[in-house]
Amino acid sequence: MVFLCVDIGGTNTLLGIGNGDFQVIEKYGTEKFLKDVDGKVDEALKDTDYSREQLEKVAVAAAGPIDREEKTFRPPNFSRSGLEKVDLGEAFRDFGKITILNDGTAAVLGEYHYGDHDAENLVYVTISSGIGAGVILEGRVIEAWNGNFGEVGHMKINEEGPECGCGGTAHWEAYSSGENLPEMAEELFSAEYDDALEIFKSYKSYDSTAEKVISKMHEANAIGVTNIANVFNPEKIVFGGAVPLNHTEMILEPLKKEVKEESVNSPPQIELCDLGEKSVIQGLRAVCNGKFKPSQL
Ligand SMILES: [Zn+2]
Repeated sequence: MVFLCVDIGGTNTLLGIGNGDFQVIEKYGTEKFLKDVDGKVDEALKDTDYSREQLEKVAVAAAGPIDREEKTFRPPNFSRSGLEKVDLGEAFRDFGKITILNDGTAAVLGEYHYGDHDAENLVYVTISSGIGAGVILEGRVIEAWNGNFGEVGHMKINEEGPECGCGGTAHWEAYSSGENLPEMAEELFSAEYDDALEIFKSYKSYDSTAEKVISKMHEANAIGVTNIANVFNPEKIVFGGAVPLNHTEMILEPLKKEVKEESVNSPPQIELCDLGEKSVIQGLRAVCNGKFKPSQL
């Protein structure tokens, strides 16, 4: 059963082709990828033993609300680039039967099946362009209505705050996602940074404004993650996405303390994910290998 798995993230898209396991995994910029899906799939196929005709299953994870019936997704964090709705059914029409998953759900599936967690109650949190989550409770994946679940980045942190990519205000990701950090710095501290990387670099060189920005980010992360701990009562919360992958200690250490103090039940372990940037695509592989059948197809 030759499969094509595609993890469409806010910034990058990972594309994997294989049978049982992946033969290749390629990385593209998401905007470029979506403009030339056919070309990129053909390019990746060249590095495998397979042809287009052999592809039977397509699994796609999208960083935004999905519509399984319509086979579309709406990318909230691409709204600034003008991409309103992506028609996945049309984009992948030539490559086999398509299954669409929320990317947080795919990531927790990947970590559960191919990571080394030994936990039946597992939450995956990504902090990258946006913030999202996937949840497995008692070994069961929670998918909810129409496959949309885990938009934890849009939980309200306080009454007033910076504007979120979705149009709301004071949402967790408006404070803490990689894309929103510079805007939060500008709105709350009148500071100008080109991107999140510059904020992290300035923080490491003891820039006092960057310290305030990072402290605000920690505050929002602590609220978001302790809420997740108290709502779902998982054994472990594992973190992925560019921000914790590149700044592991800075992001996770304060959270371990906060979650321990604020958890009503036994505090969950706070860890980095096992599969790095491949959690989502490995979750799609799990779907193609029949380890999980998405609801309402
Ligand atoms: Zn939002």
